[in-house]
Amino acid sequence: MGLEPGDAEVVDCDGLVVSPGFVDLHVHLREPGREDAETIETGSRAAALGGYTAVCPMPNTDPVADNAGVVEMVAARGREVGLVDVFPVGAVTLGQRGAELAELGTMAHSAARVDCFSDDGRPIREARLLRLALEYAQAFDAVIADHAEDPSLTDGAQMHEGEVSAILGLQGWPAAAEEMVVARDLLLAELTGGRLHLCHLSTAGSVALVRAARARGVLVTAEAAPHHFTLTDELARSFDPVYKVNPPLRSKADVEAIRTALADGTVDAIATDHAPHAREDKEVEWASAPPGMLGLETALALTITELVEPGYLRLGQAVERSGGAHSAAGNLHGSRREGELVSCRRGPGNPKGVPR
Ligand SMILES: [Zn+2]
Repeated sequence: MGLEPGDAEVVDCDGLVVSPGFVDLHVHLREPGREDAETIETGSRAAALGGYTAVCPMPNTDPVADNAGVVEMVAARGREVGLVDVFPVGAVTLGQRGAELAELGTMAHSAARVDCFSDDGRPIREARLLRLALEYAQAFDAVIADHAEDPSLTDGAQMHEGEVSAILGLQGWPAAAEEMVVARDLLLAELTGGRLHLCHLSTAGSVALVRAARARGVLVTAEAAPHHFTLTDELARSFDPVYKVNPPLRSKADVEAIRTALADGTVDAIATDHAPHAREDKEVEWASAPPGMLGLETALALTITELVEPGYLRLGQAVERSGGAHSAAGNLHGSRREGELVSCRRGPGNPKGVPR
């Protein structure tokens, strides 16, 4: 670009990469209600450390973010903290109870300008309500994000259902419990023409369903969490509750399928599902521990070592899947950040390593 530094400070970026900030579509900041586990401030700090400039906290707080008052409070607190953009996700149903729709329009038109709704933490059980939400949300171009799980198949489940659960004698959580809801959601997205986002896909079957739906033009985006492209159900053998997550850690074949889906773009975004718990809640025996794992500070490192280095993603694609550049993640939440991966490597034509 031929810039002369003049009096400006020149930073030597040789060998480094400058990229747009990342967007995490799926975090739990626990405020309001469980500030002993995480707050908007501590979560924002973790996000900033991890390379994120925007996070989307899920509404399963206490009180639930199912009205303009709560989403505005979360957004305002995020601005006050001032480290990253905080775009609250609103609940789809009142109190996330799955009985009646929350006031999606009021949240969309509130000062928080909510453009994504989810009952995450739990699925939208009733197909009728999901259909209504997918129809209604089109009026304000919002996305409905579903946590795909059929609770009638997962009640009491402790881990992925497979060989390891059989050996350990723990009640299993079949892949079908996720996949049948993914299938239902895709059919309803197709029926309504609404915008569907699928949270934390974890099985080979789920990504196959999304791939097929995409091919016939269904408006769907999907995310996967770092632990689902990194860890397997073998870790349950340790009975360390840190490995208890929802959806559970799956088989090696599922991990491989998630990696491949991130590589071919079937899964658009890496979202951490950062889900902190108070130490006294999580450090208990496996069966009574709540599901959830941290992710904001480790996602980038895992993306590089597990996806970029083995060749699933190029570095620029890793940035896109992390919500930087022009990714689905960035677009989903209106936090479009212009720019592409830029290199500061010194070379012919860029002897000073100026970012371009
Ligand atoms: Zn979830």
